[in-house]
Amino acid sequence: MLIRCTANDVHTRIKLKEKYADQTDLLRLYPCRARVSQRSSSDRATLCHGSRIKLIKPEPRKRARAVLSPVSDPTPATTKRVFTFGKGRSEGNKGMKSLLGGKGANLAEMASIGLSVPPGFTISTEACQEYQQIGKKLPQGLWDEILEGLKIVEGDMEASLGDPSKPLLLSVRSGAAISMPGMMDTVLNLGLNDEVVAGLGTKSGERFAYDSYRRFLDMFGNVVMDISHSLFEEKLEKMKSKSGIKLDTDLTASDLKELVEEYKSVYLEAKGEKFPSDPKKQLELAIKAVFNSWDSPRAIKYRSINQITGLKGTAVNIQCMVFGNMGNTSGTGVLFTRNPSTGENKLYGEFLINAQGEDVVAGIRTPEDLDTMKNCMPEAYKELVENCKILEGHYKDMMDIEFTVQENRLWMLQCRSGKRTGKGAVKIAVDMVEEGLVDSRMAIKMVEPQHLDQLLHPQFEDPSAYKNYVIAKGLPASPGAAVGQVVFTAEDAEEWHAQGKSCILVRTETSPEDVGGMHAAAGILTARGGMTSHAAVVARGWGKCCVSGCSDIRVNDSDKVVMVGDKVIHEGEWISLNGSTGEVILGKQQLSPAAMTGDLEIFMSWADEIRRIKVMANADTPEDALTARSNGAQGIGLCRTEHMFFASDERIKAVRKMIMAVTLEQRKQALDLLLPYQRADFEGIFRAMDGLPVTIRLLDPPLHEFLPEGDIEQIVRELTIDTGMSEDEVYSRIEKLSEVNPMLGFRGCRLGISYPELSEMQVRAIFQAAISMANQGITVLPEIMVPLIGTPQELSHQASLVRGVANKVFTEMGASVSYKVGTMIEIPRAALVADEIAKEAEFFSFGTNDLTQMTFGYSRDDVGKFLPIYLSKGILPNDPFEVLDQKGVGQLIKIATERGRAARPSLKVGICGEHGGEPSSVAFFVEAGLDYVSCSPFRVPIARLAAAQVAV
Ligand code: PEP
Ligand code: MG
Repeated sequence: MLIRCTANDVHTRIKLKEKYADQTDLLRLYPCRARVSQRSSSDRATLCHGSRIKLIKPEPRKRARAVLSPVSDPTPATTKRVFTFGKGRSEGNKGMKSLLGGKGANLAEMASIGLSVPPGFTISTEACQEYQQIGKKLPQGLWDEILEGLKIVEGDMEASLGDPSKPLLLSVRSGAAISMPGMMDTVLNLGLNDEVVAGLGTKSGERFAYDSYRRFLDMFGNVVMDISHSLFEEKLEKMKSKSGIKLDTDLTASDLKELVEEYKSVYLEAKGEKFPSDPKKQLELAIKAVFNSWDSPRAIKYRSINQITGLKGTAVNIQCMVFGNMGNTSGTGVLFTRNPSTGENKLYGEFLINAQGEDVVAGIRTPEDLDTMKNCMPEAYKELVENCKILEGHYKDMMDIEFTVQENRLWMLQCRSGKRTGKGAVKIAVDMVEEGLVDSRMAIKMVEPQHLDQLLHPQFEDPSAYKNYVIAKGLPASPGAAVGQVVFTAEDAEEWHAQGKSCILVRTETSPEDVGGMHAAAGILTARGGMTSHAAVVARGWGKCCVSGCSDIRVNDSDKVVMVGDKVIHEGEWISLNGSTGEVILGKQQLSPAAMTGDLEIFMSWADEIRRIKVMANADTPEDALTARSNGAQGIGLCRTEHMFFASDERIKAVRKMIMAVTLEQRKQALDLLLPYQRADFEGIFRAMDGLPVTIRLLDPPLHEFLPEGDIEQIVRELTIDTGMSEDEVYSRIEKLSEVNPMLGFRGCRLGISYPELSEMQVRAIFQAAISMANQGITVLPEIMVPLIGTPQELSHQASLVRGVANKVFTEMGASVSYKVGTMIEIPRAALVADEIAKEAEFFSFGTNDLTQMTFGYSRDDVGKFLPIYLSKGILPNDPFEVLDQKGVGQLIKIATERGRAARPSLKVGICGEHGGEPSSVAFFVEAGLDYVSCSPFRVPIARLAAAQVAV
């Protein structure tokens, strides 16, 4: 099977990939007809003019650049590396994320506004950077600063680290400037040893003390000493079965004492050394472990997937421990101040009585909802609700909060801006304006452009149609729809994705190690874990569909099956997930495109009021034009006419006749066949874009792209059938057409100049269509665009051809329409002589795909061979075909705009390359003073929002 993908935009390619996802085996049977190109480093079918796709090169998909760029920090340079907080005072604040990490900066802020935060201190990210730079050693003097910070905490708490008579236990937690959920390390209950545990037992009860001790031994062993957690788990399970109990909470103090001894023996067996009992040594080792976790493979992978670059490292937050596991008046929870999936204004969280924070976040126990807390600890609950209000008002945002209740007293452990889905983001922004918390300009910044991407993803066409196929229901952890084949390991998900398959990763629960597979999967289904489990939080951050805590399913990884009642689903079977309802559905359910209505419509109207730049669409068919218009496009900025040639067999045959023609007469005959097709398509596009400009580009790609692919004999066979030529004639023509470097060869305006009859046919079709539509009362605004101009003479040639044909058609049809003639600026020379070109051109449109190709000298089709190496070595910060290179290509754009406008002040200037829908590039185009950006219909809302965000 041959698929042609001439679309250069991400969404069309992804759509194609999804559409043919189940046919990739078939596709792979025809390797020579399906050129694999890797121009772009993400999971898309590729790409350029008329190229044959298939593809699917799976590299980490890129995420929301707008949020993930390095955090700017207004803090003045400082040599201070330890910042304390607690009891209504703090040395840091929420603006210091780059230095203190998100967690540290917000702990400082919460303490300073008077919320009850356990006292502590933060070691800066710069200390981490120094630690890495000097070969993983604590920088000189840092330990003394740490000890000073510790002294202040000890003073606040009237307790001391390592003192059995007034024991102080610490938590040691990571926290980078950009949240990386679960990717780095944490150690809790630090400071325990045989003496301290005895003292703690006297103060707070033996059972609690030894439970904390065994937890610490396990966590410290695993995180700091690199001992497998399963070795501790085994001992725990043995102990439980020996005592005949099911729950950890049923272990008695003496069970736990015995377990502590067992755990200590694990150290000896695994490491050949004793567990380090000196609390200060424990602290030093834990700090180093957290610093080291910045460079763990999973953290590196997460940063690469999410394009997190430019950070210094992780901060380390050391705080006095508060205990959620001190019996039934204690507990721990996490919450969002509003529902992060739907945006509903209602606290949304989970709570576990008699537990420590890790139990909730790790998704090991499925927690209960917040009502449990309201019933058991009404006072702490009331304070929590008040704190949520204070924090929303203070941060003017929906917040994600971690808290612990120790013997009915509430402690705030963390707050940060809550990750949310696209749907949630839009509703929260609209609601907060209505509530008067923010104004519409501030609201514009509360939705990331990539959020819109999620919102515009397909949903299930008709949920009632799959009613009878719903086999299980879990928690609606991250909304949207996913359809894919079942896989059971993260590795398989990555591998299947690499083969172009859409898969659903089914796990009992996910762990940070699974992040690559989770990213590769179309959706995630877990048997365990709540709405704030690892799977749920990570999936929501990515806008990936996820159903978690689906207790109806039993996952058997080793046999690669999942059981639902007596139904057995094997690896590779198709299932569908509805992340908005939590439904797990058998088979491949139908998806339909999302609509721009309700809150989204209101929100986008604010964006449109604010932005100055116009947003047009790249659309080649009447259907694409309609989609573009419904997504808010203000016209068509690029209609690639060559795409129309692939629409049917008759068309492509006529094109081939035209290409193979030896005489002018033969060529004209073939062109006469094509004219009615082009005219009909233009009519449809003009109708869809009634009242809006339509920029139509004359033929651009190298002609060989219209020829069949395959071995030469097959090509010749097909061409003799398509054109009626003899084999010898075909061979000789092919030889003449072949080029060593076609992207720099016989393409663009070079075609129309060499074969004027080709441009004449296209221009005739455009004006005939325009007049016939105008005769039907449609307002047509055609703009004819000449591609790949390098000299003003090239443009003059084609512009006078256009004007000549227009006049002829106007005379023939007894009517006229107004129109513009302009050019693409895709060749660096054109940018430099833009003043001369502007004398002839009424508009410029930067073709930044070719302009990037020719400025860097990187082939669009072959860059994938070295781009990943360049990115990993930091030689390039991003794929320049995706994110505009502002220094080089951007400079050419500025020069050309300035010079062009100097020669023709009314010059309209826009951009229609791939960068027209990429938020950071859109910001650049706004600042460069362009009149419009043009991008794929699906990216139009993203560009509208990005343009508004620059304006605020
Ligand atoms: C470009 O080069 O940026 C462009 C829009 O044209 P194409 O991608 O069709 O070469
Ligand atoms: Mg181009």
